[in-house]
Amino acid sequence: MPSPVEKLLKFLSLEKDRGYDNRAVVGGLDKILPVWKTEAEATGIQPVEIEQISSLLSAYPQADANGRAEMIKQLIETIQAIPGQDSAAVNSGESNSAELNPGQYRESAQPRRERKDPRPARQQNAGVIASSEKPAGLDAKLTVLPGIGPKNAQFLSQLGLNTLEDLLFFFPRRYDDYSHLKTINRLEYGDVLSVIGTIKSASLRPLKNGKISMLEAIVTDGTGALRVTWFNQPWLEKTLRPGFQLVLSGKVEIYLGRLCMNNPDWEPIEQEHLHTNRIVPVYRLTGNITQRMLRRLIKQTISFWATRVPDYLPEDIRHQGQLIGLSEALNQAHFPDNENRLRAARERLAFDEIFLIQLGVLGQKLAWQSNQAERFDTPQEWLEQQFSHLPYELTNAQKRVIDEICADLASGRPMDRLLQGDVGSGKTLVAAMATAMVNRSGAQAAFMAPTSILAEQHFRSLSKLFLEDFGEDSVYQPGQIRLLVGDTPEAEKQEIRAGLNDGSIKLVIGTHALLEDPVTFQHLQLAIIDEQHRFGVSQRATLRAKGDNPHLLVMTATPIPRSLALTIYGDLDISVMDEMPPGRQPVETHILRPVERERAFSFIQKQVEEGHQAFIIYPLVEEGENEEVLAAVQQRDRLQNEIFPHLSIGLLHGKMKPDEKDQTMRDFRDGKYQILAATTVVEVGVDVPNATVIMIEGANRFGLAQLHQLRGRVGRGQAASSCILIPDKDDAVENERLKAMEETNDGFVLAERDLDQRGPGEFLGTRQAGFTDLRLASLTNVRLIEKARNLAQNLFAQDPQLSDPRNEALKERLQDFWHLGAGDLS
Ligand code: ADP
Ligand code: MG
Repeated sequence: MPSPVEKLLKFLSLEKDRGYDNRAVVGGLDKILPVWKTEAEATGIQPVEIEQISSLLSAYPQADANGRAEMIKQLIETIQAIPGQDSAAVNSGESNSAELNPGQYRESAQPRRERKDPRPARQQNAGVIASSEKPAGLDAKLTVLPGIGPKNAQFLSQLGLNTLEDLLFFFPRRYDDYSHLKTINRLEYGDVLSVIGTIKSASLRPLKNGKISMLEAIVTDGTGALRVTWFNQPWLEKTLRPGFQLVLSGKVEIYLGRLCMNNPDWEPIEQEHLHTNRIVPVYRLTGNITQRMLRRLIKQTISFWATRVPDYLPEDIRHQGQLIGLSEALNQAHFPDNENRLRAARERLAFDEIFLIQLGVLGQKLAWQSNQAERFDTPQEWLEQQFSHLPYELTNAQKRVIDEICADLASGRPMDRLLQGDVGSGKTLVAAMATAMVNRSGAQAAFMAPTSILAEQHFRSLSKLFLEDFGEDSVYQPGQIRLLVGDTPEAEKQEIRAGLNDGSIKLVIGTHALLEDPVTFQHLQLAIIDEQHRFGVSQRATLRAKGDNPHLLVMTATPIPRSLALTIYGDLDISVMDEMPPGRQPVETHILRPVERERAFSFIQKQVEEGHQAFIIYPLVEEGENEEVLAAVQQRDRLQNEIFPHLSIGLLHGKMKPDEKDQTMRDFRDGKYQILAATTVVEVGVDVPNATVIMIEGANRFGLAQLHQLRGRVGRGQAASSCILIPDKDDAVENERLKAMEETNDGFVLAERDLDQRGPGEFLGTRQAGFTDLRLASLTNVRLIEKARNLAQNLFAQDPQLSDPRNEALKERLQDFWHLGAGDLS
C-alpha cells in the first residue's frame, strides 16, 4: 500500500501536470485533507509537518495559477523534507540518522557506467591505467541518504547524481554572497547580506481576495527594526513567533519609503547556517529538488565524507602546483568560509580535471611511443633535389614541418603528428614529401581522405607531382601510385589489392575503401589522414592496424587555439602551418544588410557573366535534417525561378547520399552549374578554382571559425575572390562580431576570437561534447592547462608506469576518470 506521503506526492504531481486546475482530486485538492491527516498521524509524521501541509492544501483552491504553482512547489519541498518518507527502500530504522556510516553501504556498490564512446585504439595502448576498486561507501546509491527514496533518486539522477561521490563533486553553479553582516541601522537599499535579529511581531494577512497570503514580520536587533515579508508560506507563522531569533539573508529593498526584505532565506540562529549568513552555494536543480534540500544533502555528505576521501594527488605535485588538499577543497567549494578559500578550492579542483586529462593523453602518447618503429633516414641533399623540381619556393612553414616529419621518421618511434594549417597553406605537398621519404626505401604509404572527390583530387595532384614534375629524380614508377575509392570497378579493386599485398604499389590514395578487410599491405609504414575530424578514432586505428606500428600523420584545416589543442590533441605532436604561400589574394569580405541582398545578387550575376562561379550558403534554420532539406530546396527553387532564371543552379544538402554529394561537387567543379546553393555540407578541401564568390545567408548563426572555413571555398584560383555575409537582421552587436571577418583572413586569429565569444562548448560543437562536461576547469585556461601539462610530464618522466606506491591513488583515480567517459579525444 502506498504511504500517505507517496499518495499525496502522486496527487501533487498530477495536479502539476494538469496545469494547476485543482481537479487532480474530485471536488478539489483540499478534499483529501481529512483522510490524509488521519493516515499521516497514524504513520508517525510530525504534527508540525502535518500542519504545514494542511494549511497549504486548504488555501490551495482559492489561490490563482501562480500562487498554486508556488504552493505545489512548497508542498513537495515540505513533504520531501520529511525524514524517511517516500518508500520502503529507505532503511526504516536508521532513516533519521544524519551521520553516515561507511560500512553500511558495502552491498550497494554500483557497477561503473559504461563509457559513452569507447576508444578501442587508445585503450589498448593505455598501459599505465590499471584497474582497482574505490572505497565502498562512496559508491553507495543516494537512496542510502535519509529522505531520498526512488523518486528523488530519479530526479537527482537527472542531474548526474547517482552516488555519494557524485554529490561531493556536484559543484555549485554560482554562489550568493550573504557573508556580509550588518546591523539594521546600517542597512542600505540594494545591500545583499545577512541580518541577525529577533521577531518582534508577525501577522498573516490575506491579499488579493485571499488568493495570496502574506506573512509580515518586524525584526529587531537593538539598533533598529526591519519589515520582512514572506508570500504564500502561511505555515511560517507557526515558527516565526515573537521572540524567535533568526538569520535573514537576501536583498534589502524599499517599500513605501522604508527599507524591507521580501522572501529572504532564513534559518534559526542557533543552527549551523547553510542558507544564510555565509557564501551560499546555488546548485543546478531539476524536478522537485529544491536548493534547501540539495544543500542539506550535500552538507550531510560533505560533513562525513570530505575528510575521508583519500587525496589522490601525490604530496609533491600538490606542493609544486601550490594546491590545497582535496578534503579542504571539497568542503570549501560547497560551503566556503571566504572568497580566498573558495578561490583556492576551485583552483585545486579545476586543476584536477585538467591534470587527469593531461595524464590520460600523455599516458597514451607515452604508451604509443614506447613502440618501436622503422627508421627512415632522409639525406638533406635528396630532399633539396626533390624540391628543386617544384614550380614554387616552399614556405618557411612548409620547410619547418617537413623537417619535423623528417626527424619523426628517423626517430625509431612511431610518428604521431597532427598538422594544422589553414585552407590553402599547402598541406598536401607536406604530406606528399612524407610519403616520398617512406616510399623511397621501398616501404608503403596510404593516404586517406573523407570523400572520393577529395581522394581523386589528391591522386591527381600527387601523380602530377611525382610522375611529371619530379621526372628523373622521382622515387615512383608509373603504376606505383593508385586510387582506391568505393566506385573503383571491382576488377580494378582486386588488382590494386593484389599490388598492395605484394608490395608493387607503393602509395595508395583513397577513401574509407582503404579500410575494408580485403585490403592488406606488404609493408605499410606511413598512414596519412586528411581532414582528420571527418574520421572516427576507430577508423584511424583500423588504418594504422594494417601496418606494423606505422608512422601516422593527420591533417586538419580547422585552426584550433593552442589551449584547446593541448587538450583535445594532447596525445599528438602538433605542427602548425601559420603561413600562406606568397601571392595569395585575400578573399575580400563584406557584410551586407538584408535589404542590400539585391546588390549581392547583381554582383554574383556580374561574376557569372565574366565566366566565374558562385556558392550561396544557407544556414540550417531548424534542428532536424528535414527542415534543412526543405530550406535548401526552397531556396534553390526561389533562386532558380525568381532571381537567376537563365542560370543553372546546383543543390547540395546534408540529406543527400555521399556519392550524390560527390557528383554534385564534381559537376560544379566541372562548370555544369554556375551557382551552387548549399547548406554547410559544402565539401572541405575541394578545389573549385573558378569559384570567386561565396554568399552566406544568416551569417549571424555561424561562428567565426566556421565562416572562415566556408570562406575558404573561394580564393583558390588566380582571380580575386569575395565573400558576402548577410545576417538575418540589422543587429549592431552581431554585425560588430562579424566585422572580424572583414578585418582578417587569419584562421587562428578568428578561431581565438570565436572561442572567446562562444566558449569551448559551442566552439567544439557536439562532436567533442564530452570534453565540455568539465565541471570547474575551462578548456581555455591556458595558464592552468600548461601548469597541469608540465606537472603531468614531470610525473611521467619520473614514474612512467605510475608504479610508485605514492602514485597509486592517482593511478586509480585516473582510471576512474577515463572510464566515466570524460570524452573522446580528437
Ligand atoms: P591545403 O593546406 O588547404 O590542403 P593545398 O595543399 O591544397 O592546401 O594547397 C593549395 C594550393 O597551393 C595548391 O594548388 C598547391 O599547389 C599550392 N601551393 C602549395 N605550396 C605552395 C607554395 N609554397 N607556393 C605556392 N603555391 C603552393
Ligand atoms: Mg587540403
